[in-house]
Amino acid sequence: MVTNLQPGANTQRPELDHQYFLHLAYELALKSYNEGGCPIGSVIVDENGKILGQGHNMLVQEGNPILHGEMSAMRDAGRMPSRRNTTLYTSLSPCMMCTGTIIQFKIGRVVIGDTVNSGPGNVELLKQNGVEVVVLDDPNCIALVKKFREEKPDLWLEDWGGL
Ligand SMILES: [Zn+2]
Repeated sequence: MVTNLQPGANTQRPELDHQYFLHLAYELALKSYNEGGCPIGSVIVDENGKILGQGHNMLVQEGNPILHGEMSAMRDAGRMPSRRNTTLYTSLSPCMMCTGTIIQFKIGRVVIGDTVNSGPGNVELLKQNGVEVVVLDDPNCIALVKKFREEKPDLWLEDWGGL
């Protein structure tokens, strides 16, 4: 088959391997956990599966409460004229801050590894704002945060905004 390289000729987005990229986000979450931090990781990928940015929660590592996993990946990805064709993978369902960031910066799709620990609260908000949402509820992602919540409930609470 001849590939048509004309801009806009191919309007169909190729399928990304969601399990693969979510697993990368999970591994970043595990890295943070092993550093004594909050176990939430994120990866941003373009429409061809190229990784544009990645990161994990940095509350403990940098003492920065707004560097959630998604925000770390955004920082790593840096400047971009458009994020509409990107997919953000996050090991945990996004909080209000990260949901706002996803909407503000027009990320096209979000794949979520865990809506069990944080609740699915912002999934509808994302959808209402035109973001495609895929919920995988991956057993590894769920188990890691469950363990973290049991071990460090104060840190979990602090990461979600404190008392
Ligand atoms: Zn967040």
